[in-house]
Amino acid sequence: MKTYSANGSNTTIRERLGLRPIINVSGTMTSLGASIIVPEAISAMAEIASQWVEMDDLQRAASTVVARLTGGEAGFITACCASGITMAIAGSMTGTNLLAIERLPDDTEGLKSEVIVQLGHIVNYGAPIDQSIRLAGAKTIPAGTVSVTQDYHVRDAIRDRTAAGLYVVAHHTVQYGMLSLEEFCEICHARNVPVIVDAASEYDLRGFLARGADIVIYSGHKFLSGPTSGIVTGRKDLVRAAYLQNRGVARAMKVGKESIAGTIAALEAWEKRDHAGIRQREEAALNLWKDALQGIAGIGAEIIPDPTANPLDRLQVFVRPESGFSAAGLASALAAGSPPIIVRNHEVERGHFFLDPCNLHPGEAEIVAERMRALLSAERPADAMNQPRKVSSGALRWPD
Ligand SMILES: *Cc1c(COP(=O)(O)O)cnc(C)c1O
Repeated sequence: MKTYSANGSNTTIRERLGLRPIINVSGTMTSLGASIIVPEAISAMAEIASQWVEMDDLQRAASTVVARLTGGEAGFITACCASGITMAIAGSMTGTNLLAIERLPDDTEGLKSEVIVQLGHIVNYGAPIDQSIRLAGAKTIPAGTVSVTQDYHVRDAIRDRTAAGLYVVAHHTVQYGMLSLEEFCEICHARNVPVIVDAASEYDLRGFLARGADIVIYSGHKFLSGPTSGIVTGRKDLVRAAYLQNRGVARAMKVGKESIAGTIAALEAWEKRDHAGIRQREEAALNLWKDALQGIAGIGAEIIPDPTANPLDRLQVFVRPESGFSAAGLASALAAGSPPIIVRNHEVERGHFFLDPCNLHPGEAEIVAERMRALLSAERPADAMNQPRKVSSGALRWPD
């Protein structure tokens, strides 16, 4: 799409900023700009941008919409899910004590300040989740082992100092051997410990509160396709205490009126979205890719459901050495083309990657299919068999 700048320039914003186009088949990634924002949210953001608003009133309006969609008693919008986690935890420590809110994060004297998390839930979503806990001034108390958490691990970790239990729902967590949300809630609630759920990427807006969570946090920019934002919902006293952190640690996580208005619009659009039609388009892309990979030696492809039961499938592409590529080598060859195709490669060392159909513009699925066929029928590049390495040198070079 050609966009025109305020001064009438007919170059695209990409051209003006020197940004190359990319095709994102990796999912909703912060590093790739988080989402394709739905048109309803874009107009709401543009409409509110030039106006003064009373922010508490705007957040009250958000609360009504969030409550309607999630079944929570109240809610608000914040900068992102990670900030919502910090705010919910800080709220579980301070309640509505305004002085305590200003004393965080380093002065927690007299406050409950421990947060229990199953060890298999201590994930990294671009930053480690325990840092979101520490930002509030709390201490992470891991329960259980990486592969097994039992009821007594959580029960015996609860002490007078326990402020909250944090439960993570995500493909990032260990997917077996952990306590269910119901079990975790039962144990925490028996000792009056509130349960905070990180449901950043989960399509289910009502289920976690319905199953016993006290406060749940979503990303506004993942499945909802809103602007970069977070949504906090749940028990009114806990939501209020979390919201009050805007006068404390969350000042450094400030959300703007445009993101609040945009997220409200994205939530309303979600209610009306043609979910079945989207699913159909995603399935068509998956089948197209699967067909394109049929019959290529050393390549397997299978459509697999999302690990946390979101209504979403991905194509798992198995890359065996007979193909002349390693999984990492094929992923980098796709990323090295023009435009770069960025696949979901977080398990690439296991010899496979995924293609995620959620964030495609029209025509891009076809380009991905053609590029895969072309790469797999051409001479292999020198680094085709590369093994993945965890190098951080690229990050350290920024801004060069
Ligand atoms: C993406 C993600 C987050 C972080 O969400 P942001 O809104 O980007 O801060 C937190 N937890 C999980 C499980 C995630 O997948």
